[in-house]
Amino acid sequence: MKKIAVLTSGGDAQGMNAAIYGIFGRAQELGYELYGIRNGYAGLLREDIVKLHREDVRHIVAKGGTILGTARCDEFKELSVQKKAADICRKYGISDLIVIGGDGSYQGAYCLSKQGIGVVGVPGTIDLDIGCTEYTIGFDTAVNIAVEAIDRIADTSEAHSCFSVVEVMGRRAGFIALWSGIAGSARAIFADSNTTAEQIVDHLRKYHFTSGTIVLAEGAGKAEPMAEIIERELHVHTRANVLAFIQRGGNPTAKDRVYGSMMGAYAVDLIKKGKNHHLVCVKHDELCGVEISEGMKQTKECSAYLAHLGRTLSCI
Ligand code: ADP
Repeated sequence: MKKIAVLTSGGDAQGMNAAIYGIFGRAQELGYELYGIRNGYAGLLREDIVKLHREDVRHIVAKGGTILGTARCDEFKELSVQKKAADICRKYGISDLIVIGGDGSYQGAYCLSKQGIGVVGVPGTIDLDIGCTEYTIGFDTAVNIAVEAIDRIADTSEAHSCFSVVEVMGRRAGFIALWSGIAGSARAIFADSNTTAEQIVDHLRKYHFTSGTIVLAEGAGKAEPMAEIIERELHVHTRANVLAFIQRGGNPTAKDRVYGSMMGAYAVDLIKKGKNHHLVCVKHDELCGVEISEGMKQTKECSAYLAHLGRTLSCI
């Protein structure tokens, strides 16, 4: 019987469990044995490997986080460690490994594929920053949580005639900031890196804003110092709010549950087709596989139209 395994790695994202659920369902249908590796590459090196059964996955689709746990494992960047990990897979008879994670986890998966292990990547990251796919699991839930928080903060900011700087996640990508800023009708959206407090102050001054929310991607700047400068320059009370892990936890939206399940199941289909050096992607709303080295070269640009719309709407 073919043995395959799954691990979750890097930052957790809502819908990772749905992906495990989809993988299990399709593996069962094809008669594959499925193993779960706990805590990412670190768990693989510790041989923390368990066979997954129906009862392990039956109720997980609605849960945030990941039932397998996740971890960061810096030593996995070393060739000797990657060879050791491949040997462990072979020892357990695991021919193919499904890695659910972001671009860092994909680097690890690519290294493992070079050691002769079949690897399929499933994009699990709230940041949407994987170039070869239109969708990454967790983005929809993270944006919806951010919008709900921004709506609440906006009500109080307007009521008290003050500003609130809301820092959302996205160290290397501003997609969450842009989407949640537009949806939350922010007074200003700063999604790009290297935003200066001066730019924010100029924007608020130019449009004579005296209250409301300013949405900032974490890679664009830090809420606390920005709030202090806005308050000092504009003489309006300004609070800093950092949403941080609030965006990553909690029940996934239906979209993340369904995309997670589909992408997970499709990863098993790719293995079945022998496309076991591939990344699961969504292109033109259809699932497809892209060869791993090819997929990792692609970068994601934010829609110029959406970015322009963000600027247009934050002037109202
Ligand atoms: P994400 O997958 O969310 O982008 P990280 O960037 O933290 O998260 O990467 C997760 C893990 O992937 C790392 O802890 C490491 O084990 C592995 N990894 C990251 N970059 C590399 C690399 N260049 N080579 C091998 N493994 C890597």
